[in-house]
Amino acid sequence: MSGGQRASERVVVVGAGVVGASVACHLARLGHDDVVVFDARSRTELPGSTGLAPGFVGQLSASRELSALARDSVAQYASLPGGKAYWQVGCLEVATGPERLERAHRDVEHGAGLGLEARVLDAAEAVGMAPALVDAERTLGALFVPSDGAVDPVLLTRLLVEEAERAGARFRFKTHVGALEAERGRVVGVRAGTDGEPVAAGRVVLAAGIWGPVLAAGAGVRLPMTAVQHPYLYTRELPGLDDTFTDTPIVRYPDHSVYTRRHGRRYGLGSYAHAPLPLTPSAGLSSAELPFPEDNFGAALDRATSLVPAFRTAPRGRRLNGVFAMTPDELPLVGPAAGVPGLWFAEASWVTHAGGVGHQLARMLLDEGDLLVDPARLAPDRFATWSERRVQDAALAHYQGIYETH
Ligand SMILES: Cc1cc2nc3c(=O)[nH]c(=O)nc-3n(C[C@H](O)[C@H](O)[C@H](O)COP(=O)(O)OP(=O)(O)OC[C@H]3O[C@@H](n4cnc5c(N)ncnc54)[C@H](O)[C@@H]3O)c2cc1C
Repeated sequence: MSGGQRASERVVVVGAGVVGASVACHLARLGHDDVVVFDARSRTELPGSTGLAPGFVGQLSASRELSALARDSVAQYASLPGGKAYWQVGCLEVATGPERLERAHRDVEHGAGLGLEARVLDAAEAVGMAPALVDAERTLGALFVPSDGAVDPVLLTRLLVEEAERAGARFRFKTHVGALEAERGRVVGVRAGTDGEPVAAGRVVLAAGIWGPVLAAGAGVRLPMTAVQHPYLYTRELPGLDDTFTDTPIVRYPDHSVYTRRHGRRYGLGSYAHAPLPLTPSAGLSSAELPFPEDNFGAALDRATSLVPAFRTAPRGRRLNGVFAMTPDELPLVGPAAGVPGLWFAEASWVTHAGGVGHQLARMLLDEGDLLVDPARLAPDRFATWSERRVQDAALAHYQGIYETH
């Protein structure tokens, strides 16, 4: 193997989506001077889930761990050098029924317990904040979380890569990792590039998004995550909107499993109100975007467009079917592989939590304290006794109820 005498200290990260970039950034900032990141993608394109995400960042969660990861991520995103990656526009969770409004009051208390400010707005206030996105006819009020916001995931990832490089991490783009290298049950590197060049490493971190299970399986490890397909729709560019990101909050309709935001000259919305559509990624899958399945998603998007005022009249633009990963408890898989020394995971994380995941994993790898979350809660083997089917059923069950935890 190539690598020389220091290969035992090298950390190879597979994947330079938002999660791999964050892991590399944290490792390098903590002073680790031999971090190499491989990604099959080019420097400028993001064919994975990150390149498709609209960038909602919500910190209020039923899960204390998700909230801690999200809050840490927001703090990082807001202070990244090199450009503006986080817009603190706030989030409105619109109540269209009395139960949701009652829940909003309880969520204010819950938020306070997490150190997160939130307040309940009446219908007029909520509509006034985002008249194009909040349905005045159906809105009873809304929960408002002022410190929530939105990122541009592509820009955010670029800034993380650049910051990681400034701190000393090396990125090898257009370099596919074909397999993990193992010796006597220990992962000792990867095979990378068209020639399958061996690259030695003391630790290998899989941050390969929906492709993680493909590589992990090669080392005999089952990753308990399920890839799921998800629709998102943009309007065309609209007269009267400009490129500048205004203060329009992101808007969620938890009762309808719909969310919406402004993207400069366009609006966008996504819906979870359809039967979940899982996918088993293969090594040959080159993008997290799949053809749009009209039969599965068409009706859900039609219902969503009738709910959000801006979409009732605006001409429809691009619509997409993007794939991302979910786990049975919605927490990411962060930490070492059980029983396979040398192999680590930073998998099944949202953009919302990627900064915190990088923080957590880098500190674990370097044996530093100050972890954000009890590592047992994110342990990749926490579902070891579960069948494949049970993992998938539990993960998909969260799909429509995503706003109860995110
Ligand atoms: C439509 C849609 C909407 C979403 N909305 C939101 C949202 O609003 N908020 C939010 O927080 N999250 C959202 N998500 C989820 C979020 O996008 C993902 O969870 C997150 O981007 C995952 O990042 P990642 O770095 O793990 O994976 P990816 O971005 O997929 O990156 C993985 C990288 O690994 C590389 N790779 C894989 N295998 C190999 C290999 N063998 N060799 C070399 N390179 C390899 C790939 O090229 C890729 O660049 C959404 C996702 C989708 C699809």
